[in-house]
Amino acid sequence: MKRYSAFAIAREAFRQHSGWQHAWASPEPCERYDVVIVGAGGHGLATAYYLGKRFGITNVAIIEKGWLGGGNTGRNTTIIRSNYLQDPSAAIYEKSRALYETLSQDLNYNIMFSPRGVMMLAQTEHEKRGYLRTERANALQGVKTRFIQPAEVKRLVPIINIDGPRYPVLGALWQERAGTARHDAVAWGYARACSDMGMHVIEQCAVTGVESANGKVSAVNTTKGRIGCAKLGIVVAGHSGALADMAGFRLPVESVALQALVSEPIKPCMDVVVMANTVHGYMSQSDKGEMVIGGGADGFNNYTQRGSWHHIEETVRALVETFPMISRLKMLRQWGGIVDMTGDRSPILSKTPLEGCFINCGWGTGGFKATPGSGWAMAELIAKGHSPLTDAFSLTRFREGHFIDESVAAGVAH
Ligand SMILES: Cc1cc2nc3c(=O)[nH]c(=O)nc-3n(C[C@H](O)[C@H](O)[C@H](O)COP(=O)(O)OP(=O)(O)OC[C@H]3O[C@@H](n4cnc5c(N)ncnc54)[C@H](O)[C@@H]3O)c2cc1C
Repeated sequence: MKRYSAFAIAREAFRQHSGWQHAWASPEPCERYDVVIVGAGGHGLATAYYLGKRFGITNVAIIEKGWLGGGNTGRNTTIIRSNYLQDPSAAIYEKSRALYETLSQDLNYNIMFSPRGVMMLAQTEHEKRGYLRTERANALQGVKTRFIQPAEVKRLVPIINIDGPRYPVLGALWQERAGTARHDAVAWGYARACSDMGMHVIEQCAVTGVESANGKVSAVNTTKGRIGCAKLGIVVAGHSGALADMAGFRLPVESVALQALVSEPIKPCMDVVVMANTVHGYMSQSDKGEMVIGGGADGFNNYTQRGSWHHIEETVRALVETFPMISRLKMLRQWGGIVDMTGDRSPILSKTPLEGCFINCGWGTGGFKATPGSGWAMAELIAKGHSPLTDAFSLTRFREGHFIDESVAAGVAH
């Protein structure tokens, strides 16, 4: 694969851009692979990438029922942070945030990582106490955050109203090296690197069944035929329950729609990400100038990748209180994605009752930020049978009661 560089752009400008290669190949599936990954979202692709890069396992297929990155990876609001409360969460999210810092260089693909800073507003005394606790936990975990006072919030975000009628801003948990990245580019960059290592990224191919022999996974059935495999990684976010059912086990996850919307583009007015969990909304400004707005999840299980009117109303109403100037903005688009929620709001990266079959799911409303770290850890789990980053996130925690409660860090927050 030819490298992208300033020199390559100049060279192609002189030859009418006729020399660019396809970013990834579109091969037909082989009969058998060492590892099959179901789901070409960010997590599935990152898993494959680190299998090759860290463990030299490249006889890998990543199978996607739609188009690459068309699931939650291409639908999220791109917030990246690692200010979680519990130690196992801070470890994997901070690993991920650190990998994001150099991901563009590692992949030779500009993923537009923008560490512009993320603040989580405290708008009740209860929330303030929770964030002060998180700040201290983060200090012990080596995650750099600090609790800032309302005056500093106002200095960083001049358009905010800190004296709101219902919920004045009492401070915020501020992570300076948190931020955003271009979500599609993360998927595209990993796909290009996987293809470059000889892996097969197979789009428009749905997995419809999982075969086993003597309690061990042996193949998947797909709309493009049977594909044999020695190991299987299920990385399908909101469809995890359906895939687990095919593999013969059940998961403690619920699938619900989470939605977001963007406004018309406006001049730069906010250069950090603000999350307001009490009023249930968060906002950042994209490089194009649109205000990117996210709200809460549906209160009922469903598989519809759509938004709904009442969520727009609730989210925008909540944010107008905190940012009065957005009352005059026109909203352009809304959309939804199916997220997979666990009871303790923490992910599952685990072996399963079917030998050779591994599951990565339960990232719920906040897995984009975890994409590189999740792939890094999941690759180790598949290659070696365990990883220090995944041990606490095993399926057994639900049987043993070792929950990793992140309901404060997760909430509406992504
Ligand atoms: C509106 C919204 C806002 C969000 N905002 C944020 C945020 O700001 N920050 C953050 O960190 N996270 C956020 N998230 C969550 C984040 O998007 C997800 O946790 C993350 O993208 C999950 O990535 P994934 O690769 O596991 O899943 P996906 O990207 O959904 O990939 C799974 C893939 O599996 C495929 N698949 C499913 N079934 C099959 C099958 N049978 N055969 C083959 N392929 C199959 C799907 O088509 C899909 O492409 C948000 C999510 C939504 C919906």
